[in-house]
Amino acid sequence: MDLLHNNPMLQGVRQMMHAYAKSTIRPIAAQHDQEESMPWELMKSASMMGMSQTALLDTNKGALGQAGAGEVSDDKPKTMGRLQIVAAEELAWGCAGISLALAGSGLACTPVARMGTEEQKAHFREAMKGVDDKGHVKVAAMALSEPSTGSDISGLATSARKDGDHYVLNGHKQWITNGQSAAVYVVWAQTDATLGRAGVRGFLVTRDLVGLVPGRKEVKLGIRASETAQVHFEDCRVHESMMLGHKQPSAGLGDTKKMLDSTRPVVGIQAVGIARAAYEFLLERIRGWELHGTPMAGHQHIAFQLAEMEMEIEASRHLCHRAAWMADHRLENVKMASMAKAHAARTAEMVTSKAMAMLGEEALQAGHPVEKWYRDAKIFDIFEGTGQIQRRIIAKQATGLNAT
Ligand SMILES: Cc1cc2nc3c(=O)[nH]c(=O)nc-3n(C[C@H](O)[C@H](O)[C@H](O)COP(=O)(O)OP(=O)(O)OC[C@H]3O[C@@H](n4cnc5c(N)ncnc54)[C@H](O)[C@@H]3O)c2cc1C
Repeated sequence: MDLLHNNPMLQGVRQMMHAYAKSTIRPIAAQHDQEESMPWELMKSASMMGMSQTALLDTNKGALGQAGAGEVSDDKPKTMGRLQIVAAEELAWGCAGISLALAGSGLACTPVARMGTEEQKAHFREAMKGVDDKGHVKVAAMALSEPSTGSDISGLATSARKDGDHYVLNGHKQWITNGQSAAVYVVWAQTDATLGRAGVRGFLVTRDLVGLVPGRKEVKLGIRASETAQVHFEDCRVHESMMLGHKQPSAGLGDTKKMLDSTRPVVGIQAVGIARAAYEFLLERIRGWELHGTPMAGHQHIAFQLAEMEMEIEASRHLCHRAAWMADHRLENVKMASMAKAHAARTAEMVTSKAMAMLGEEALQAGHPVEKWYRDAKIFDIFEGTGQIQRRIIAKQATGLNAT
């Protein structure tokens, strides 16, 4: 049965997003991949259609419908999480890089929605208004990773030293989505090393602050329409009122972990979108091909591989929907979110790799859609927690032990 059975609203969103991805994203995907350029024109038109860079902040209490600190949570189940899931699959089906360009600011909106005060939300919205000095739609960035801190965020080295009513930020962030162009950054830094994980806090840093230095843009294997860059902080003074949650109690590093649990199912479903794109392309080709005089799809070793792909795509999609549904119903979804992300990333790698092999030389050509999806898929096993980290989380939930 269709996962969206009996839900006309989600069915409508799927149809609309699919039509948009097919008519607007697919035609420009190869160009932005080859040029490694952000689709600024598309981002502008999408914003005018209501797909704004701050949509997650404007429409919800946080990604996947979870209430943020200081906000009143009602008991009614939401559909925001599943809505995001449905839309994200279709957009990533169009192009994963472009879908990240459209939604990348959501990584910064999520902690602001969850932990920000009303003043901070207003400050964030203000910084995102209008266009930047190049006439581009404004984007935001969430800066957690560092050159020596990726999976193990407890080793975070960027410091926030208190000086009067300001914090002074020093350090380097790496692999930051929208890192070069952002109008506003959510930066995670250590306020007191003696507190360890509890001392880590998020700060809202607008681009105009002295000491914020956008760094080198990375040249990437895949999702090349999304910008990834370094960001440096050199004695960057941020007013204390811009520390996320400000005087509210904070779980320190725990806040960042909760934030990742919210975004993982969305990242997972983007991987499903890539896998489905490659599978559909392959199926269409295979239907028209013959091998040794008989239809290619009639050969058992081909048919079984197609069945494997379809099973895994369907299973991954179910896990992502389940994780989002749990969040919408205020249920603890840590394990499900990790399972969804890890399973979907593996599915995207498996499907695109098999599609490459079955299509042969054709798919090796630069600019071939399957070659692009194959490159795009790899990154989904790395960002938002690698496959190994997801497995550690799942195992810990099952055993109560941290694997060594
Ligand atoms: C395209 C892209 C966009 C990104 N955008 C952002 C962003 O917007 N903001 C941001 O903050 N970060 C971002 N990142 C960074 C991303 O989250 C990190 O790359 C990721 O967390 C992995 O960290 P790392 O690359 O330092 O790998 P490492 O942590 O150094 O890991 C290297 C290898 O060791 C394994 N490993 C590490 N620890 C363990 C363990 N305990 N047990 C078993 N295996 C382990 C990992 O699984 C991996 O295989 C982005 C990355 C990419 C590629």
